[in-house]
Order: sequence, then C-alpha cells, then structure tokens
Amino acid sequence: MTESKTGGEHGATHLCSGSSGTRSASVRRLTAAADAPYTGVPTDIYWMEMAIKEALRAGEDVPVGCVIVKDGKVLSSGHNEKENSQDPTDHAEIIAIRKASIILKSWRLENTTIYTTLEPCPMCAEAIMQTRISRLVFGAYDIQSGAVGSKFNLFIPGRPYPVPQVTGGVLQEQCQDLLVNFFRQRRK
Ligand SMILES: [Zn+2]
Repeated sequence: MTESKTGGEHGATHLCSGSSGTRSASVRRLTAAADAPYTGVPTDIYWMEMAIKEALRAGEDVPVGCVIVKDGKVLSSGHNEKENSQDPTDHAEIIAIRKASIILKSWRLENTTIYTTLEPCPMCAEAIMQTRISRLVFGAYDIQSGAVGSKFNLFIPGRPYPVPQVTGGVLQEQCQDLLVNFFRQRRK
C-alpha cells in the first residue's frame, strides 16, 4: 500500500495516533540510561526552530529538517531531498551528517548535538550512532519508523558505540503540523 510506504519513510501520516506517553517514557528511559542531564529547554527550542525552518525548505519532499550544533554554533543543516535528488538516502539527517563530516574533515562528530524535526528512521539513527554524535534532540515521534523507541530502538546498551543522549518531543506539535499539513495538501 503506497500510503504506508510513504508513512514508513518518515512516518508522517500516522504521527498523531498512538500513545505518546509510552513513547516519551521510552526516550526518557534512554536518556536516564545514558545518565544524561537535560541541558535546557530554551536552547533546545532555539535550535529546533532552526530545524523547522530547514524543514520548510524541503519543497516537494516530506518536510523534515535538521541542524547539527557544535560549541553553540551551527555546523551544518539539511532537509529531505530524496525526491529532488532521487537518492533514497537523502534524508535530512544524512545530508547534515555528510556536510558536518566534510567541514570537520572527520567522520567522527563527537561533542555535537543533532536536532531533527522527526524521530530518526533506522538508517539515520544508525548513522547518528556511527558518527559518535553525542546528543540527539527530535521533535515529532514516528510510530511507524522511529528508531529511537517508537517502532525500534537502536540505541540500546551493549553495542560497541556510545549511545547518544536523547531528548524527544521538543516543539513536537509544530514538527507534527509540518508533516500533517504537507500530507493534507498532497491529498488535495
Ligand atoms: Zn532517516
């Protein structure tokens, strides 16, 4: 079914259903497991607003945006470009990670925080872990494809990589609305 495939890509068509309480709890557990202090709502909101602006540049693509921050500055940003590039790996997070790696001349993105408007899919969650990003902050939960607790959980202890700190649900409503409005428009 085409609809579920689209939703699966970035889950947007089903974001409003499900029990957000359970999903939030899952992420909180991850955060606690990583012994991660919550580093401040105002800062997170500031950067998430920037990620939302990035999402709005996605054009024909599903509006997901992302910024990577290091030492209080934007290192890179990205939005979905899969339709534009016809490259199935061109999700916002992968694009931002590629750019950041070029800028730092290293695949290691330690001491960075990635802000993304939607809970990462398995491909992006794995990339976030592989690159050693220290912290992940996301907006909307993705019950169809979210790989940080909603559908899957790749950030489990016992893997040979450090588990990033996770904070979910920052500007959740605005991030969801982006997607809901996009799919509503597309159905017209
Ligand atoms: Zn992804």
